[in-house]
Amino acid sequence: MPKVQAEYIWLDGYKPTANLRSKTKILDVMPNSVTAIPEWGFDGSSTRQAEGHSSDCLLRPVAFYHDPIRGGENILVMCEVFNADGTPHATNTRARLRKVAEKYADYDAWFGIEQEYVLMENGRPLGWPKDGFPEPQGGYYTAVGAGNIAGRNLIELHTQACLDARLSIAGTNAEVMLGQWEYQIGAVGPLAVSDELWVARWLLQRLGERFGVSVTLDAKPVSGDWNGSGAHTNFSTKATRAEGGMKVIEAACEKLRTTHAQHIRVYGADNEKRLTGLHETCGINEFKYGVSHRGASIRIPMATAHAGRGYFEDRRPAANMDPYLVTTALLETVCGEGFQG
Ligand code: ADP
Ligand code: MN
Ligand code: MN
Ligand code: MN
Repeated sequence: MPKVQAEYIWLDGYKPTANLRSKTKILDVMPNSVTAIPEWGFDGSSTRQAEGHSSDCLLRPVAFYHDPIRGGENILVMCEVFNADGTPHATNTRARLRKVAEKYADYDAWFGIEQEYVLMENGRPLGWPKDGFPEPQGGYYTAVGAGNIAGRNLIELHTQACLDARLSIAGTNAEVMLGQWEYQIGAVGPLAVSDELWVARWLLQRLGERFGVSVTLDAKPVSGDWNGSGAHTNFSTKATRAEGGMKVIEAACEKLRTTHAQHIRVYGADNEKRLTGLHETCGINEFKYGVSHRGASIRIPMATAHAGRGYFEDRRPAANMDPYLVTTALLETVCGEGFQG
């Protein structure tokens, strides 16, 4: 039997934004369930997750995927981090989401996350001239043609890799700034969308290595008249999708108004540079919602308004947000008593 390469992926302890880490373990057999994948460990003192004198952290596999890069009988393994005593590590934001997702399972919440990002080469956005700036924004969004587009070969590889890994990727598009792109994951449940978003982020960085191109999830990678990068989070429950759903969505928006500040705290670093009220955003200290309103905090899509039911879009999360925290916040506020941070 051929041996299996299992790439264990986890989040490190960097603040305010965690990085992806991974390493390879050789397994004798292809596991047929996630519980059949062995636990593993790593040196937490090298990832800001432990002190040098007791540095072991535990990796517990929680989801696995076909590895589209190595192909064959190889897998990607998403992990949670635990302390040596078996308690969830302080950086393990997924542990809390597990409990929250279970608590509100009856709501049958679905999430679709739009991941925007900017490709970088030699410290500048891909496709930008060595000195100065490209043509102002306008022609780049969903563009075709050399000069209007940068990085498409990588995007094509990434999209196919997500499909080969059986992630629920829903689409991709070139974004408003040259070198900026988006893909969407979902709509699926809170744990699945979050695990898959982290794996899709990992795949993009991993494939970028081939081109010497890196990926920044910075909320506002270039200051001035250039769009920031967001992670619009689309959300629905059984009740918003059912007849009379529009009323439930409006009630949800009123609840979200009361917890705006608590949500913003987990919606990503440097988000105040992005949520300025310009570039299709609402100011960070304001809360507005409206039908097909791209300058609002929450947009209710036209199709939802017409049908009287469906989903809404939280436009506030920044590209660098942790989906475990964002989906926790939305579940706690919309389905529960209100997210308290
Ligand atoms: P935008 O018009 O804001 O650019 P996109 O098409 O990029 O929207 O993304 C919309 C996302 O919403 C997709 O990931 C899609 O799967 C998701 N979505 C669609 N229906 C629902 C639903 N009922 N609940 C949650 N998410 C949904
Ligand atoms: Mn989109
Ligand atoms: Mn977008
Ligand atoms: Mn959107």
